[in-house]
Amino acid sequence: SEITAAPEKLFKVIIIGDPTVGKTSFVQRYVENSYKRDYKGTVGVDFALKVVKWSETRTAKLQLWDIAGQERFTWMTRVYYKDSHGCVIMFDLTNRNSFINSLKWKRDVDSKCRLPDGSPIPCMLLANKCDLQHRQVDQMEIEELYKEHNFIGWTETSAKEGIMVDDSMK
Ligand code: GDP
Ligand code: MG
Repeated sequence: SEITAAPEKLFKVIIIGDPTVGKTSFVQRYVENSYKRDYKGTVGVDFALKVVKWSETRTAKLQLWDIAGQERFTWMTRVYYKDSHGCVIMFDLTNRNSFINSLKWKRDVDSKCRLPDGSPIPCMLLANKCDLQHRQVDQMEIEELYKEHNFIGWTETSAKEGIMVDDSMK
């Protein structure tokens, strides 16, 4: 009998945020379900592929672009953002500055990239390292940023403990 190929779509998702917030750890947790304490600082961009099974017959491929945090405001980000379908903006709950900079990342994406229909790239806001004590950002502030700047959602995550990693990407 003939097997019909399942419809499969490829989506490009960019992962951005300041250096050391946990982007590479998050991608590794999501794709490999692994965690190492030290990843070499990403240079430029790393790629990972995640196949998501929606149902018996439907899968989607997510091409994840793990972009080095130093790149913000350089001409390179425009190249990296091009043709993306979704975006994750990550900060570290124990690093206030990384939270403040989330807005700069959002503005950078919005100013350089749109979906084909002209609407902004859907952006999730992820508050990583929720396993740690000594937070420098409280939930009210995150809620406010999320609402006022048109993120599609936000949640706390821990790449280390594997908290809300799959759920946030869903
Ligand atoms: P990137 O520069 O944003 O890619 O950050 P990395 O993934 O390289 O992580 C930077 C540091 O933060 C590393 O020492 C990681 O082990 C640590 N880290 C990443 N995610 C978490 C987390 O969820 N919890 C804790 N406690 N540490 C994390
Ligand atoms: Mg990295």
